[in-house]
Amino acid sequence: MKRRPRAVVIGAGFSGMQAAQSLSKSGADVLLIDRNNYNTFVPLLYQVAAAQIEPELIAYPVRTILRGAPRSQFLRAEVQRVDFADQVIEADSRRIPYDYLVMATGSRTQYLGVSGAVENAFPLRTLEQAIALRHHILQRLEQASQTSDPVLRQQLLTFVIVGGGPTGVEMAGTLTELKKAVKKDYPTLDLREMRIVIVQSGDTLLNNLPSRLGRYTARKLSRLNVEVMLNMRVSQVSAQTVTFAEGSCLPTTTVVWAAGLKAAVPEAAIALEQTDKQKVKVRDTLQLIDYDNVYAIGDLAYVQQQGKPLTGVAPEALQQGVAIARNIRRQIKGKDPQPFSYFNKGRLAIIGSYGGVGKIGPVLLTGFLPWLMWLGVHLVYLPGFRSRLLVLLSWLHSYGLGDRAIRLILSPSPLQRSIPPPQVSSSQVSHPQIAKFQQHPTKTPLV
Ligand SMILES: Cc1cc2nc3c(=O)[nH]c(=O)nc-3n(C[C@H](O)[C@H](O)[C@H](O)COP(=O)(O)OP(=O)(O)OC[C@H]3O[C@@H](n4cnc5c(N)ncnc54)[C@H](O)[C@@H]3O)c2cc1C
Repeated sequence: MKRRPRAVVIGAGFSGMQAAQSLSKSGADVLLIDRNNYNTFVPLLYQVAAAQIEPELIAYPVRTILRGAPRSQFLRAEVQRVDFADQVIEADSRRIPYDYLVMATGSRTQYLGVSGAVENAFPLRTLEQAIALRHHILQRLEQASQTSDPVLRQQLLTFVIVGGGPTGVEMAGTLTELKKAVKKDYPTLDLREMRIVIVQSGDTLLNNLPSRLGRYTARKLSRLNVEVMLNMRVSQVSAQTVTFAEGSCLPTTTVVWAAGLKAAVPEAAIALEQTDKQKVKVRDTLQLIDYDNVYAIGDLAYVQQQGKPLTGVAPEALQQGVAIARNIRRQIKGKDPQPFSYFNKGRLAIIGSYGGVGKIGPVLLTGFLPWLMWLGVHLVYLPGFRSRLLVLLSWLHSYGLGDRAIRLILSPSPLQRSIPPPQVSSSQVSHPQIAKFQQHPTKTPLV
C-alpha cells in the first residue's frame, strides 16, 4: 500500500494553524509543531499588557483547534534546525522526517542595534512578554504610590513607547485608559503626573496607512495627553533613562519596545535567501526558491504583490495558510502549484478612548466607527466561543464602566521546576517509525 505523504508545519500561529487545518483535507498526514501548546491571538497582546483582559483568553489550545482536523497531530517542541537536503527537522532531540514542509515561525522583536534595549526595554511579541509588562506596569504604580520623592515618582510614572506603528499607538492609547481606570485605586497618587510618551523616528504615526490617518492619530493621542515625539530616534535604553540620538534623555523605568520585528527563521543546514528584516525569499507560489516541497508563510516570508512587499498582518498569514494547503494538495495529485494572490479587505487600527482609524478600499475612516469595527473584527477572529464571550464581557466592563479588573502582580513561583524533555533516541522517531505508522495509521503517533 502506498503510504500517505507527510506534511510538517512549524509554528501554530495565524499562518501555521490555518495551514494545518486546511492541509488536513489534502490527503497528507499532518504534524504541527510549536514551542507552545496554545495559539496566541497576537493582536490582543497589548490588552493583556495593560491589564484589560486575562492572558488565557488569547491563548487557545492547539489540540482543541485540531480536534476537528482529521489525520493531524500536534507536537510541543522547539525546532532547532531544518536539514532541507535530508528532509529532516531537528526538534528537542528528535529527528522528524517530512515530505512537505511549511515554515510558519512568524517574527521576533528587532532592537535595531540600540544599546541597552535588549536588556532594559519591554518587547511585546509573546504572551509571556505581555504578562511581564503587565506585572511591571502595575508594580510601578505600587512603587510610585509608596514614595515621597517627587523625582523618583515622576520617573516611575513615565512610560515611554518606542515605535509609532499600530502596536505603539495601541499601547499608548490603552495606557491613557488605564490611567483613568486606576485613579480611584490610588487616592494618594496624582495621576496627572503619569507621562505617556510615544517616540517615532519618522514624521508620521502608522506609516503603513495614508498620512492623513497618521496625523489624525497623533492629534487624538495628544488630546489624550500622550506626548507624541516625531522624528526622534532612541540611541540608548538603561534601567533608569532613555537617551535620544540628539543627546537629550528622559528618566523612566518603563520602555516598551514596539519599533520593529524581524523574521524568526529557524536555523537551516543550508543558508536560505533572505531579504529585508531577514524574511525568507519565496516564489510567487510561496515555495522556497530552491526547494519545491518547502513553503514559507506569514511574517517569516517575503512576499510581493504588485511589486510591493506585504506588510505582515494576520489576514495575509491566514490567506497564505489556505493557499499553501491548496498547492500541496495539487502537488500530491501531480499538478503544479499556483501563485498566491492576497485579497486585501482593508486595514484598521485602534487608538483608544473610542477612537480608531481605517482604510477600506479608497475610503478613509476615523473616530468611533473604525474603533468599533476593530473590536468587532478581532472578536470574530478570536478562536473559541468561551474566549469571545469573556473578552466581550471584559470590554463591556472596561470600556463601559472605565474600570480594569485585573491587578495581579505575580512573582515567579519558588516551586517552579524545569522539566527535562523525555530522552528519545533518533532511531525511535525517524524513518523506521514511518514504516510502523503505515501499518497502524490510526494508532501510531507521528513522533
Ligand atoms: C503586538 C502585535 C500586534 C499586532 N496586531 C495586529 C492586528 O491588530 N491586526 C493584524 O492583522 N495583525 C496584527 N499583528 C501582526 C500579526 O500578529 C502577524 O502578522 C501574525 O501573527 C503572523 O502570523 P504568523 O503565523 O506568521 O506568526 P505567529 O502568529 O507569530 O506564529 C508563529 C508561531 O511559531 C512558533 N514558533 C516560532 N519559532 C518556533 C520554533 N523554533 N519552534 C517551534 N515553534 C516556533 C511560535 O511559538 C508561534 O506560535 C500584530 C503583531 C504584533 C506583534
